[in-house]
Amino acid sequence: MPVTVEITLPPHKMTAPDIRAALVRSLGRDVSHWRLRKRSLDARKRPVYRLRIEVFDQAPPAEPDVTATFRDVHNAPAVHIIGAGPAGYFAALKALELGLRPIVLERGLPVRERRRSLRQIQQFGIVDPDSNYCFGEGGAGTYSDGKLYTRAHKRGNIEHILRLLVAHGAPPDILVDAHPHIGSNKLPRVVRAIRKTIEQYGGQVRFQSKLTDLILRDNRVETLIINGQEEIPTRAVVLATGHSARDVYAMLQRHGVYQEFKPFALGVRVEHPQPLIDEMQYRQPRGQYLPAASYRLTCQVDGRGVFSFCMCPGGLIVPAATAPGEIVVNGMSLSRRDSPFANSGFVTEVRAADLPVDPEQDALAGVLFQQQVERAAFAAGDGSQKAPAQRLTDFVEGRLSPDLPPASYIPGLLSRRVDELLPDFITRHIRQALLDLRKRLPAFYTREANVVAVESRTSAPVRILRHRDSYRHIQMDNLYPCGEGAGYAGGIVSAALDGQNVMTAVAQRLLASGKR
Ligand SMILES: Cc1cc2nc3c(=O)[nH]c(=O)nc-3n(C[C@H](O)[C@H](O)[C@H](O)COP(=O)(O)OP(=O)(O)OC[C@H]3O[C@@H](n4cnc5c(N)ncnc54)[C@H](O)[C@@H]3O)c2cc1C
Repeated sequence: MPVTVEITLPPHKMTAPDIRAALVRSLGRDVSHWRLRKRSLDARKRPVYRLRIEVFDQAPPAEPDVTATFRDVHNAPAVHIIGAGPAGYFAALKALELGLRPIVLERGLPVRERRRSLRQIQQFGIVDPDSNYCFGEGGAGTYSDGKLYTRAHKRGNIEHILRLLVAHGAPPDILVDAHPHIGSNKLPRVVRAIRKTIEQYGGQVRFQSKLTDLILRDNRVETLIINGQEEIPTRAVVLATGHSARDVYAMLQRHGVYQEFKPFALGVRVEHPQPLIDEMQYRQPRGQYLPAASYRLTCQVDGRGVFSFCMCPGGLIVPAATAPGEIVVNGMSLSRRDSPFANSGFVTEVRAADLPVDPEQDALAGVLFQQQVERAAFAAGDGSQKAPAQRLTDFVEGRLSPDLPPASYIPGLLSRRVDELLPDFITRHIRQALLDLRKRLPAFYTREANVVAVESRTSAPVRILRHRDSYRHIQMDNLYPCGEGAGYAGGIVSAALDGQNVMTAVAQRLLASGKR
């Protein structure tokens, strides 16, 4: 049995010999075999790393091989998965484990080719509605920061998800870091390796295959219509199309498939110089041993939450629109997180009562609201993907910025009254939250920060309701709403967990009925 030891080391002592020396000091005996189990940075006072380490008397046992349970499914019953995001791909991996043949239908391009579409958006402002920062192999999580922490601990085995990622090429550090992240330079390789696994065991992944319609009979999905023409009969459909597939929500609505409004959040992306955030969090310059500092902020303004969202230290703001004529921003970073900027969403809750259309009358009222704000941001611009922005202090004080500080956003920023462009209640809440932060974190409140519009794709504004235990849609017998788009996940890991849970439910049913 290993002995578990907790040690604390300053950042410059995070080398193998220093860790070993600390273990020897702690145990009072020689140490030859050890394995790091947890690593977290504690910056509450002088920054230190806290490590949890297992010490062994002999070589530690091999780590579990999470791919050993995959089976050959070439002749197994098929299950259709719509969407190759984390929910869809982890559902497919689960299918390999459980003896089902996953057929993944994805509207976008394979992960490498997808880069061309991203370049088109960044350089020429051309948004391909099927291949962009949200759509394409790997889903919205691929060209992101790749943060892998989640609060979804009750939903399944997070370590298993992380081990699957490592088995497909993610850095093993994600197994021990308290706040693991992969980075968008490494994620595409991992996504591609997952596809290879799916194909190797007998599953299929088809690109440029957009679900455009369904043929329904007796509360079942009988046939999938792909690209408006191909008909694919199906016995079970996992619908994992993400929070931006507005055409899918609209198509379900046309068929009377039950969905309901789900509260979400909307606001801006705030970007500071990274050294300023480092000083704010570490109370000293970062130096060479500490990572780019991050933050997480929450405020309550008039009983409504205002919070930072998807913070990307050392990252970039990216154009995340999924259709021409809209401006949407989000954040990503590379694995080294070494850009000179720190960006984060800064958003507030949007509730049913805030919407111009009653969600009781129209379940897509939240989608319409998002769309209106995104189009207003576009209309305020010059017809390109340049985003409206304001210095943070000018946003709060309500004036146009005569100029803007440097920014990471490649298409470029335009000085605009972002405070006037956003719905009034959003501006009021964000403004008040920033004023509150001025007292708590004076460094954050600076004219060197940009406020960029609009951060609108925080989570799904719709829930495609399903039964709690069977994961089936409440009305459609063989439709399995899954992942973020269905309103049951938020983030890469929770979407992956949901994919696995949904596929387990599909397998219980399909394999019990025994047909091909
Ligand atoms: C820029 C950016 C950065 C992010 N950073 C992080 C982060 O650091 N950490 C984190 O946890 N989360 C992050 N997120 C959120 C995260 O990406 C999502 O929570 C997650 O990807 C949701 O997974 P999903 O599989 O449910 O949906 P998605 O990832 O949205 O995947 C849905 C897939 O379905 C496909 N699709 C849509 N419609 C159809 C159709 N009709 N037919 C066929 N296919 C279709 C899409 O092309 C897409 O590939 C980020 C998101 C963005 C946009």
